[in-house]
Amino acid sequence: MSKKNLKFNSKTIHGGQQPDKAYGAVMPPIYQTSTYAQSTPGGHQGYEYSRSGNPTRTALENSLASIENGEFGLAFASGLAAMDAVVKLLQPGDEVVSTNDLYGGSYRLFRLVYEKFGIKFHFIGMQKATKIEEYINDNTKLIWLETPTNPMMNIIDIKKVSEIAKKRNVLLAVDNTFATPYLQKPLDLGADIVMHSATKYLGGHSDVVVGALVVKDKELADKLYFYQNASGAVCGPMDSFLVLRGIKTLHVRMQRHCENGKAIANFLVKHPKIEKVYWPGFEDHPNHDVAKEQMKDFGGMVSFITKGSNYDEAIKIVERLQVFTLAESLGGVESLAGHPASMTHASIPKEEREKSGVVDALIRLSVGIEDVEDLIADLEQAIG
Ligand SMILES: *Cc1c(COP(=O)(O)O)cnc(C)c1O
Repeated sequence: MSKKNLKFNSKTIHGGQQPDKAYGAVMPPIYQTSTYAQSTPGGHQGYEYSRSGNPTRTALENSLASIENGEFGLAFASGLAAMDAVVKLLQPGDEVVSTNDLYGGSYRLFRLVYEKFGIKFHFIGMQKATKIEEYINDNTKLIWLETPTNPMMNIIDIKKVSEIAKKRNVLLAVDNTFATPYLQKPLDLGADIVMHSATKYLGGHSDVVVGALVVKDKELADKLYFYQNASGAVCGPMDSFLVLRGIKTLHVRMQRHCENGKAIANFLVKHPKIEKVYWPGFEDHPNHDVAKEQMKDFGGMVSFITKGSNYDEAIKIVERLQVFTLAESLGGVESLAGHPASMTHASIPKEEREKSGVVDALIRLSVGIEDVEDLIADLEQAIG
């Protein structure tokens, strides 16, 4: 039977993989080598230098393509390096329409690195997909979106945006870090490029920094491969191995992240000291219907604000947490708490971030896979 037709949970374990040819190792070996012996110049077995290609990285890239229902995967040194390769498809004078509520580092890459090379970025709310059309002109070459958004948990209708992108002949890239292919598959919904910070749920154990792109189109894959090799921010063999290992349990971890996320969102929303909880599983979430349609479940990310809170109060709450660790990042087995205004989103100017709701009082949780009773008890004592 072809491994292409496996269902998702089987693909996380087997997709794009076969036992190693040399000794039948079930896990791809860590080919910790920079170069490969040639019998005659050009006489190699598919690999000549590890920036251009490495068998452990290939194993990860095939797995990534398989779980995202794509054809080609590319693994990078970080999520931002993956994103950087996408922006390199553009020319000076080109324009990009991006989600306004996006990962702080993505915003920094667009504004502080690429604007000076003559690329123009529009940051807009995309909860109403048709709004994007107002920002598309003849120079628009790329739509960049994140859903659920970070940290406001807004949901963007990928299928609707892809219809607009196709009609206007603009590439659509989706940062699928928060949802993972367990919850949603942007390529199936019409996106051209899926990007991941594999540092998060795909790796899943907070022990590696890796990025990924997945596409269906060969020509687009070739262009991205050119920049991956030409700029050189590739994923090393050890890191490739760690993410491959992480992906094998993605489905079981995600199931628990979702269950725990739901329990915590429901605990918080009933708590008398809570002002507002951001989680797409609530029926009164503005795009709950889209979330239900395009996602399998609602994920493990929950943000909230306590009543009458401010910068100092939010900091006190995150400092009091004992089971949740105060740290940047997300998507690992352990629960993390963060204060976006001073941490992940500190590189976005205050007016800009407050426009999208990232106020000083906001706290973001990456709900891990511990016993949820312990997580709830921890939040209870920290909120007071
Ligand atoms: C972390 C993150 C990134 C950046 O990825 P790195 O691996 O840290 O470079 C991009 N987008 C989202 C949504 C992220 O959470």
